[in-house]
Amino acid sequence: MSTIEEILTTMDYGKAPEDPSAANAWLAAHPQLEHFINGTFKADKGEALEVHNPATGALLTKAPMASGSLVDEAVKAARKAQPKWAGLSGHQRAKYLYAITRILQKRSRLFAVLESMDNGKPIRESRDADIPLVIRHFYHHAGWAEIMEEELPGHGPLGVCGQIIPWNFPLLMLSWKIAPALAAGNTVVLKPAEFTPITAALFAEVCAEAGLPAGVVNIVFGAGETGAAISGHSDIDKVAFTGSSEVGKIIRRQTAGSGKKLSLELGGKSPFIVFDDADIDSAVEGVVDAIWFNQGQVCCAGSRLLVQEAVADKFLEKLKDRAEKLVVGDPLDKSTDIGAIVDASQLETIQSMVTQGQAEGATLWQPSATLPNQGCYYPPSILSDVSSASTVVQQEIFGPVLTAQTFRTHAEAIQLANNTRYGLSASIWSETLSVALDAAARVKAGVIWVNGTNMFDAAAGFGGYGESGFGREGGIEGLLEYLSEPAPKVKPAKPQAVDFSPLPAGANESDAIDRTAKFYIGGKQARPDGAATYTAYSAKGKPISQAGLGNRKDVRNAVAAAVKAAGWSASSPHLRAQILYYLAENLEVRREEFASRLSLMTGASAAKALEEVDTSVQRISFYAGYADKYDGKVHSTLTRHVTLAMNEPIGVMGIICPDEAPLLSMVSLMAPALAMGNRVVMLASQPSPLMAGDLMQVLETSDIPAGVVNLLTGDHSAMAPTLADHDDVNGLWNFGPESADLDAGSAGNLKITWTSTADWLNPASAQGKRYLRHAVQVKNIWVPYGE
Ligand code: NDP
Repeated sequence: MSTIEEILTTMDYGKAPEDPSAANAWLAAHPQLEHFINGTFKADKGEALEVHNPATGALLTKAPMASGSLVDEAVKAARKAQPKWAGLSGHQRAKYLYAITRILQKRSRLFAVLESMDNGKPIRESRDADIPLVIRHFYHHAGWAEIMEEELPGHGPLGVCGQIIPWNFPLLMLSWKIAPALAAGNTVVLKPAEFTPITAALFAEVCAEAGLPAGVVNIVFGAGETGAAISGHSDIDKVAFTGSSEVGKIIRRQTAGSGKKLSLELGGKSPFIVFDDADIDSAVEGVVDAIWFNQGQVCCAGSRLLVQEAVADKFLEKLKDRAEKLVVGDPLDKSTDIGAIVDASQLETIQSMVTQGQAEGATLWQPSATLPNQGCYYPPSILSDVSSASTVVQQEIFGPVLTAQTFRTHAEAIQLANNTRYGLSASIWSETLSVALDAAARVKAGVIWVNGTNMFDAAAGFGGYGESGFGREGGIEGLLEYLSEPAPKVKPAKPQAVDFSPLPAGANESDAIDRTAKFYIGGKQARPDGAATYTAYSAKGKPISQAGLGNRKDVRNAVAAAVKAAGWSASSPHLRAQILYYLAENLEVRREEFASRLSLMTGASAAKALEEVDTSVQRISFYAGYADKYDGKVHSTLTRHVTLAMNEPIGVMGIICPDEAPLLSMVSLMAPALAMGNRVVMLASQPSPLMAGDLMQVLETSDIPAGVVNLLTGDHSAMAPTLADHDDVNGLWNFGPESADLDAGSAGNLKITWTSTADWLNPASAQGKRYLRHAVQVKNIWVPYGE
């Protein structure tokens, strides 16, 4: 036995093993898990997957693999149950959610132990982080069910949600998906990951015990094929997925053109930035939590350390000292810091990525302690001598491996932080609040932690930018992902046949052809690439002008101009409002001219054409008014934390205008996007391209900075795919015909897409906050305070 003096010198903890007997008894009673469909447990005699404890290799149970027909049965049960579930009052739904929460609380230790056995995470984490957050999530959403009618009038459930979750936080991800879906009146079919199905099975028992109506929650087990059967099912209204960016893209393509609502919470390569005035000891603890929590198998892990040169040596020395003291071992020992990697295949992935890093020149540091001699363990590791181009800096390792780089200036830190295709989170350390908040504003990520890391709460949204996916989970942002928008349903207008040939054979250049309209790119009128044109006709079929016929090169030029105009996204809302008012004013001055052009092109009566112009003027003013009023929120999360939900522009947006209402539809889409700080590349109405030509002249005189608005005319089918594919376009609004190809094209960089239609003269349909909501992405910035 150690003496007191030895204990005080080494500060070693003794073993504090958790009692697994209740978990073992549960497992003994469940040698094979059963699907939970329509309120009953369903044995499946088909192939089953063995579920092992990654710390010991012991077989825990087996999980069946749901076939397509079983998924179909689950979807049918969910569909049948949904109207009745949605028909309950919010209070009644809340009561079920409270009941689930209370049972979860009562069984929290069993859940924690099973989670640690199944996943390999230390009991300290499953007991103190995962399960309390699960409980918090159900409580929070029970509250949403109660107040939804008051807070979100006119919103309704989507229907049946297909939910696919990963293995790193099995029950927590389940709660992030099921709680908001149920609160909003949806029913669900959920598949846990094949490595970690156990707590989902126990959760099904909780649903049964809570008396949840049959079919509201359905849980099916299986591997990727079962997941694909859910996300591809034709009777699913929404797919919510957490997992790798690779599978996220597959699902984006699979659901393309289906009209299914989609939210994707994907990978990350999040920066952990330490400025030279940071509290170094706290920041070292921060790194421990950022990259060694859950063995680094965390989508928002702070896996890229960026430390300012002046303190880098000292910082790394302290970090290594600290890592030497981390206890790697039995997940069920309460003094374990780092448990087991989820599976041997994941361990191999980590090992091979580290080997690749070393082959590319990285230096590997690992602590001196030896690992347990059985089970899937990997030590806390640091890779230095890496550059931004290194594979280990660019790709998610999803293990306890930190890369370390240094920077000299604030600007360099931001540049390094943003040098990634991901954008999930960032942790920023500086004792100077202005330095930390400036970095918080400039790092492109959905969640920013100032002087802290891994702060989570059900009241705040969580989700990423770029290839980290889209949509949020948690808070009102997450709830809205499970609700339909309060807008009248509008049938898409019938597409008009447009002839894209230059001049019909035999037609002569009569006086009616007054000019060739150009494009508006980078603040200048630009000729089409290859000088291609097509003829614009009056409503009576008479040629009235030539218009530019855009191609993919024109789209690329327009996108390049929009990328350069980044200053607009950083400009003040007041400035944006002023410029939009000026635009409205300038349009109003020319209202008669625009109206007569509209009458000529569309055949609208003089009064109707004037109404379209006047509504356009009003609509621009409406969004000018909103430019500085579509506020973010301060979420009510943890005590002594400010959690700011900031509405940030999406960036460069491609906008496909419909054929109808050529002026009003164009400004109804342009104005909200600009008001929120986006730069736009717009494909104008195909049959009425002259409206774009006329609007250019107004834009030119309205102080809109070059590149903020770019207008192209021509055949959408030739240009839109380039917009959808382009990696510098961050968002795509399609108000033309629904297109599976465009949705699929947007998967490349996981653009935020919105396909819709509107009744342009009706403000309930064509104007309002929902346009602003689609023009922003929410960044949650966490700032703890106190001594
Ligand atoms: P996946 O993305 O493959 O799996 C996530 C979930 O999707 C699982 O339930 C999986 O089923 C399911 N799935 C797999 N293929 C499909 C498909 N085609 N259609 C629908 N569902 C599908 O992650 P992995 O578990 O394979 O991990 C691989 C890598 O992904 C990790 O190394 C890590 O980098 C990253 N990852 C990121 C996570 C995050 O939170 N961002 C979480 C987990 C992993 P099944 O498990 O049965 O294969």
